[in-house]
Amino acid sequence: MPNSPHANLAPHLKCPQRPLTTGSWRSMRPQVQVEKCNLCGLCDVLCPDGVIKLTAAGLTIDWDYCKGCGICATECYRQAMVMVEEVANV
Ligand code: SF4
Ligand code: SF4
Repeated sequence: MPNSPHANLAPHLKCPQRPLTTGSWRSMRPQVQVEKCNLCGLCDVLCPDGVIKLTAAGLTIDWDYCKGCGICATECYRQAMVMVEEVANV
């Protein structure tokens, strides 16, 4: 299991206040197709907001800050991340 590259990056994302939540910007949200995902970590590396994390249980996404840009889905070479319509922000 690779360690998150964001552990030492994006210090503004570690701000305890993190005042600008961007989750409400989403019209689409990423959804992991677990049967296709090999937990390579590429989406974790490429997410511009550092909101994807690899855990022992799989990928997690911080919905408060995922803005729905779709980069993770575009760059996943296994088509394991797909964008689906946002129903309600959680
Ligand atoms: S890039 Fe695709 S295969 Fe790799 S961890 Fe992300 S969703 Fe899974
Ligand atoms: S949609 Fe954009 S912000 Fe959300 S997890 Fe994917 S790359 Fe990150």
